[in-house]
Amino acid sequence: MARKPVIFGNWKMNKTPSEALEFMKGIEEVLTGTEAADYGIGAPYVDLDVCVKNAKNLLIAAENCNEKDSGAYTGEVSVPMLKEVGITYCIIGHSERRTYYAETDAACAAKAKRLLADGIIPILCIGETEAQYDAGETADVIKNQLAGSLAGLTGEEVAKIVIAYEPIWAIGTGKSATKEIAEDCCKCVRDNVKALYDEATAEAVRIQYGGSVKPTNIAEYMACPDIDGALIGGASLKVDSFKEIIDATK
Ligand code: 13P
Repeated sequence: MARKPVIFGNWKMNKTPSEALEFMKGIEEVLTGTEAADYGIGAPYVDLDVCVKNAKNLLIAAENCNEKDSGAYTGEVSVPMLKEVGITYCIIGHSERRTYYAETDAACAAKAKRLLADGIIPILCIGETEAQYDAGETADVIKNQLAGSLAGLTGEEVAKIVIAYEPIWAIGTGKSATKEIAEDCCKCVRDNVKALYDEATAEAVRIQYGGSVKPTNIAEYMACPDIDGALIGGASLKVDSFKEIIDATK
């Protein structure tokens, strides 16, 4: 069965609730009747309610979650909280969270398991640093991050998730990976899922490329056989550029 493309913006730590509302009002008209892909936005916690309430076609993701249901974890947000707000996707393991907040592969695995238990789709981010890329370690990094971040998940669960391959050297740098590198790495992700699970799981899992995706380069990534979508930072912040990305893919 063909995989439905999945294109998400990731606002990171940008937009107040009123700015989020302004974006939602501007973007929804573009999406009316668009079935070509699942389109969504990852937003800061405080923006989620306003995004969900004003979304007709856009899917809304949180940018993180805690794997525990409740308790003395100051500053954290649980999956039941996200579910009640109406969230259907959640980004986990973004390189910024791995780097600045010490998010580990084991934490990603626990978060993915907990999200799936409540029917929320994890968008699991993986990817190598520039030094690892230069040292030719990309395939090893992908293999190790996947083994750790998918630990304990069944094939049936993995078939539902989205994996975002985001080379750290391409994030926010304007230096996007060539379509050949992006395709090779996304294929490497799929091959690893096959090795860890089976062919059917590998064929079902949707894999995104992320890292300086723009209206001008999205189409060439989408034409690659193992790239099922994109995770977009900077170019998802303005209605106009996110609109252009949607137009280039619908
Ligand atoms: P940019 O598109 O700004 O490079 O960010 C990519 C990213 O980190 C998406 O999660």
